[in-house]
Formats: sequence, structure tokens, C-alpha cells
Amino acid sequence: MNRVRFKEGGRSLSVGKILCLGRNYPEHAREMEAEAPTIPVVFLKPSTALLEPGGKIVIPSFCRQPHHEVEMVVVVGKTGKDIRPDDAMDHVEGYALGLDMTLRDVQMEAKKKGLPWSVAKGFDTSAPLSEAVPRNAVRNPHALDISLRVNGALRQNSNTRNMIFGIPEIIAYLSSIFTLEAGDLLFTGTPEGVGPVHHGDTLEASLESVGTLTVRVE
Ligand code: MG
Repeated sequence: MNRVRFKEGGRSLSVGKILCLGRNYPEHAREMEAEAPTIPVVFLKPSTALLEPGGKIVIPSFCRQPHHEVEMVVVVGKTGKDIRPDDAMDHVEGYALGLDMTLRDVQMEAKKKGLPWSVAKGFDTSAPLSEAVPRNAVRNPHALDISLRVNGALRQNSNTRNMIFGIPEIIAYLSSIFTLEAGDLLFTGTPEGVGPVHHGDTLEASLESVGTLTVRVE
């Protein structure tokens, strides 16, 4: 699947870039023993990382510590470059719920050596994605409860109001570097409570006004 599907009307968009923010919640930065950023921390996943609802996450055999990260995802609806914060919401087609699956041991090793995160963040099935809802289905994207359960146990539970950079700032910043296009996905960062997953685990994510996403770890 390289498409983002919308619940209503059965529309779908071909996914282009997947741009992701790191450390966009202060409590998550703290648990990673990292500073809260003053400019966004950005990395990419390829569109082949997408996994549809009900799918199975396949952890590469060399990883010893795969982690879950639940995130609100912004679906870009139109092309833009150097978008001003005031115009940013016009570029939002809708919202979805995603998991930024992370090979934490691989990422830690990369950080230590000053190497890129592409393997730790971009492997196949590293981006489970829910169906999207249109922008007008969400009254305020900066006030949504977001949570993740693993085998029924609550692991992550926060609200998008805790994001350091809000959607207009994220879009303005990213579009100063990358031309944004319809079908690009913006993973907006994870709240605290990230942790390990194991073979056979069931992950159930929820985002207020958007919906739920259930996937399993193979
Ligand atoms: Mg993340």
C-alpha cells in the first residue's frame, strides 16, 4: 500500500514523502535524555514503509529493541513552497493516525556514531497508518487525546496540545526546505511512554476525532 485512504467517500491519495518530526513533545525528549529542540528535528521514511490497518509489523532480524511511537499524521493536500504559518492550514487535506516504529538499538548506535537514522526509522512496515479524515472533521488538531495500548495495557497517553511545534510552524519550516505536495505525510512526533514491542503483540492506537488503528507485530 502506498496510498492514504480517506474514510468518507473512499478517496485516496498516492503517498509521496513521509516527513517526520523527532522530539516534538517535551516529556518524550526528557525520556530520551535529549534537549527539547528549538528548531524541528526532521527525518524521512520512504513510502514503502507504510503498513495498512490490520497489517503485520515485521521487525528486521538484526534489531533487539523495536519501539512503538504513536503520532498524529497530517495529510498534505496541495503543493507549496515557503508556506507562511498563516496559510499553512490551507495545505492540510486531513488527518490520520500513525505509528513511527523505531529500531531503538539501531538508532542509539547511529546517534553515537553520528550516522543517519534511515535504517532505524525507514524499514518496511515502519509506518502503520490509519484511514484519514478530512480537515473539517477535526475542530482543533491541537487539542486531541492520543493514546496507544499494547495487548490492552495503556503505554502512551497524551494530548496534541503538548506538541512543541504546532502544525502551522511545522508546515512553514518543512516547506522552507522541501516542496510539499499532495499526498505527503507529516508525522508530528510522539508523546512520552515509548517502549518495546515483541513478537505477537497487538498495538491499538487512538486519536480523538480521527479514529483508531490496530496492527500486530509478526
Ligand atoms: Mg517519532
